[in-house]
Amino acid sequence: MKVLVLNSGSSSIKYQFIDTEKKIALAKGLVDRIGMTGAVLTHQRYNDEKIKIVGEILDHQIAVEYVLGVMLSKNHGVISDKKDIEAIGHRVVHGGETFSDSVLITDEVVKVLQDNIELAPLHNPPNIKGIQACQRILPDQPQCAVFDTAFHSRMPPKSYLYGIPYELYKKYKIRRYGFHGTSHLYVSSKAATMLNKDIKDLKLITAHLGNGCSMAAIKNGVSMDTTMGFTPLEGLLMGTRSGDLDPSLILYIMGKEELTLNEASTLLNKHSGLIGISGESSDMREIIAAVNDNQQRAKWAFEIFCYRIKKYVGAYTAAMGGLDGLVFTGGIGENSPEVRAEVCKELEFLGIEIDDLKNQNSDDIISKDNSKVKVMRIPTNEELVIALDTARIVSLSNN
Ligand code: ADP
Repeated sequence: MKVLVLNSGSSSIKYQFIDTEKKIALAKGLVDRIGMTGAVLTHQRYNDEKIKIVGEILDHQIAVEYVLGVMLSKNHGVISDKKDIEAIGHRVVHGGETFSDSVLITDEVVKVLQDNIELAPLHNPPNIKGIQACQRILPDQPQCAVFDTAFHSRMPPKSYLYGIPYELYKKYKIRRYGFHGTSHLYVSSKAATMLNKDIKDLKLITAHLGNGCSMAAIKNGVSMDTTMGFTPLEGLLMGTRSGDLDPSLILYIMGKEELTLNEASTLLNKHSGLIGISGESSDMREIIAAVNDNQQRAKWAFEIFCYRIKKYVGAYTAAMGGLDGLVFTGGIGENSPEVRAEVCKELEFLGIEIDDLKNQNSDDIISKDNSKVKVMRIPTNEELVIALDTARIVSLSNN
């Protein structure tokens, strides 16, 4: 099946047009700066040069029209008719408790997503805009929502309940949901293939380290715990997000700095993490450059970033009663030997032994041959998971 995968953000839409049989992206691209000056579409066909189209792209609907236009275009296109897009798969960040699997989009589903906006105020509204734009522009194609939260939906209550009155969970659905589910699912099943084992026999820790960062403890193929929680703010230190902290310090800062709820949210989501500590950048490449330049705050940011990951490796090994494989993925996990080395340093007692050369070379398996725990570097492919799941759900609905 040929599936158009859309990841709609507040001012951008990433897309890939994927052939699910061949498992390749026939085209991919990004519409950036939607609603701003300098909006631009970057498009690339499989094995072809990148092209850029600048335009007045005022909203998500116009952005999807641009994507369709370039996909149909004579010189850079990959389809000759709208009908060649057999289905559309949308990344949707928060499925709440309603969706534990991907779902065919109906008006009813859109309504539930709208009802869930409170759970993901930054992410779900643009996801819904992308869906509604497609409903208008491609009304005959089936659309599917694939949720970041779905892979974590089988966590046990001991992982997902917080230590607050149970009534608040019942009333407001306040619980750990977990995110980056498609990535954790993809790299964990890849890891099983690489180790030539059945995932049902493995205890894995996956670390998705991008701008947002999360880890998952995956036992016998099931996510049994994950670092992100009710929102993507909890857990690891991230580019601009604080990750774990003492909840009472939020109240303290709000009082001291006279912050509103919105301002406090912005502080923790946009001005904390690597940028907050270093004062330099939220980009790990720039943090590492500043570390090499001996800048103390960047050094702390780097150390805290890696230390938190290390702590969760220990915690999740204990939670699962052992560990067979540790996977690094995401922009940082895939590309930074420095981070991987720092995380794995002195974890030999857990059976984690990195091979420095393999790590520097960014091999698939970067642990020593005799390391009890295999450490892997696996490029994630969330779009492929979304495309395959969309094909599965659409085929099911056709039968
Ligand atoms: P997103 O979460 O937005 O999808 P990515 O997975 O692309 O983001 O990850 C972005 C992060 O990856 C940035 O912090 C960037 O600095 C980091 N990154 C990319 N390449 C490298 C590299 N060679 N070394 C260290 N960090 C890198």
